Amino acid sequence: MTEEKVQKIKAVMLGHAVGDALGVPVEFCSRAELAADPVTDMRGFGSYPVPAGAWSDDTSMSLAALDSLSEGKIDMGEIMDHFTNWACDGAYTPTDEMFDIGRTCLDAIHKHITAPTLAPTACGMDGEYANGNGSLMRIHPFALMFWARPTLRPDLDNIIDDASALTHTHERSRLACRVFTRILLALLDDPRKEAVFPALQAARERYRNSNELHHYVRLFDPSLALLPTDGIRSTGYVVDTLEAALWCLLTTDSYRDCVLRAVNLGDDTDTTAAVAGALAGALYGYESIPKTWLETLIRREYIEEMCEKAGTAWDENTQ
Ligand SMILES: [Mg+2]
Repeated sequence: MTEEKVQKIKAVMLGHAVGDALGVPVEFCSRAELAADPVTDMRGFGSYPVPAGAWSDDTSMSLAALDSLSEGKIDMGEIMDHFTNWACDGAYTPTDEMFDIGRTCLDAIHKHITAPTLAPTACGMDGEYANGNGSLMRIHPFALMFWARPTLRPDLDNIIDDASALTHTHERSRLACRVFTRILLALLDDPRKEAVFPALQAARERYRNSNELHHYVRLFDPSLALLPTDGIRSTGYVVDTLEAALWCLLTTDSYRDCVLRAVNLGDDTDTTAAVAGALAGALYGYESIPKTWLETLIRREYIEEMCEKAGTAWDENTQ
C-alpha cells in the first residue's frame, strides 16, 4: 500500500480520536454553557478525571475493532473479545482504565461474557430505545477496510450490519452505520464536499426498502447544510449524531473548524466530534489536523502503528 493511502487511514483514525479527545472534558455540557466558554483547544479534566488528550469509549472500541481487522481478517468474535478486554481490563484506553461506557454496549458485552456460546452478532440490543450512537461511533475502521480492499465491497451491507449488531442490532442503528460508511468511502475516494450528496442519494436509493429510512429524511435532504445551529440536535441518539456530524462537515471549511463546531454543540460532545472528525479527516487529510492537538493526544504512536499494520494487512497487491 502506498504511503499516501496509509496517511489516509491515519487521517480518519486520528481525525476521529482527536475529535473524541476535544469533546471528553465537556461531555454533557449544554450548548449555552459552551457558548459562554467555547472549546478552542485541548483541555484536561472537566467531565472526567483524565488529562488533556485522553480519548474515550468511541476511540477505544474503534481501536478494539481495528486491532482485529488489522490482522487482515474479519472475526466478529475476536472483536467482541477485544471489547470485553477494554470494558473489563482497560485495554485500548489512554490511561489503562475504562472511564465511560454506554448502556447498550455494556449490556452487549455482559451478554458476550455470560453466554459465551451465543453468536457475537446476537449480543447486541434490538429494542427501539437501543438506538444510541454506540455502533456509529466505532464503525469507521470497517469503512477504512472497505476502502483499502475494494474486492470486499460487495459484502459491505452484510458486514456493516454484523459490525453494528455486536452492540446495536436495531435497523435504525444498522442503517446509520451503512449510510455513514458509504459517505466516508465517497470522501476517501473523492475528497471534496461535492462527493457527499451523490453518495447520500445513492444510499437513499439503495436502502429505499428499509422501514427505518424515514428517520433519515433530514440527512438525505441537501438543505441540511442550510439549517441554523438551533435546528441541530447533538444528543446521543444515533439519528441526531449522524445529522449533526454531517452538518458540521458541510458548514465548515477545515478539520479544526469542523470538530470545534461539533464539540461546541454540547451534550454528546465527544461522539459528535469523533464522528465529524472521521469525516473531516477523510476530507481534509492528516496534515490538516493541528499538530499541537496530535502532540497532546495520548498514545498517538500506538494508534498510528495500528494504522500502519492495517495498511500492510489490507494491501490487495500483496494478497
Ligand atoms: Mg465517549
